[in-house]
Amino acid sequence: MGGCITNCGNPVEDAMLCNGCWGQVEAALRSVSWLAEELQVTITRQSVGARGPKSATPVDETPILFNVAARERQDDLRTVLVGWVRCLWEWRGADQLDCEDTLEGMAAWLLRHPTWCRQHEAADELLDEVRDAVERCVQVIDRAPDRVYLSLCDADLEDGTVCEARLYGREDRHVATCRECGTRWDVPVRRGWMVARAAHEEANSVRLSDLLAALGYAVPSSTIRTWARQEKIKAVRRDERGRALYRVGDVLELAFPQQGRQSAA
Ligand SMILES: [Zn+2]
Ligand SMILES: [Zn+2]
Repeated sequence: MGGCITNCGNPVEDAMLCNGCWGQVEAALRSVSWLAEELQVTITRQSVGARGPKSATPVDETPILFNVAARERQDDLRTVLVGWVRCLWEWRGADQLDCEDTLEGMAAWLLRHPTWCRQHEAADELLDEVRDAVERCVQVIDRAPDRVYLSLCDADLEDGTVCEARLYGREDRHVATCRECGTRWDVPVRRGWMVARAAHEEANSVRLSDLLAALGYAVPSSTIRTWARQEKIKAVRRDERGRALYRVGDVLELAFPQQGRQSAA
């Protein structure tokens, strides 16, 4: 048994990177799916803003440098992910590389190969590079960490169309204002509605944890798996790769008994 390559002080067995340090890589990689979408929104803000019929902001008021920065950081993240997928594949891979050529695809691929990531002799660089690249992207997008996604705005607009802007609320506020059309929405009502809609969905522990995080509920995937082992929740079925799928509503009810009842009412 040796020590973690990052000198964090944790012991490791059959790996360079300890559980805690790998957890940081995992968290960074798992944020890539929403991050990729947010980056795209940030980079293309000008065209999205121009479409909003009630938007008071003229197109050319969006600072162009902001978009360039977002694009650059997106490219940097891409370079890091491409580099590590290639590096690990050349080291351990067999004949065909099964990796989608997108930020999400590459992050998902790395997450499917935790042993390769953790055993690579430069695993500390993998940790630094992935974490830094993701953090730099988070800094450039317009999304505070306490923001909660509230689905598409969907307000009726004067010209007969509906607003397609993404609506975000804050944990500590009751009202969310759409940044495109200015419509004000009641946050608890919308959250309740989203939770109720999601309650019947089925997902594996990792995706379910992500889904709940997007709704503003923190439930680690490891907790979901522990509950399953303790038979507090039951898998509804297994997916094509043999992973257990759970009902969102079952997990929510166990994690937040009161919330569950509210959304069922
Ligand atoms: Zn460590
Ligand atoms: Zn709107």
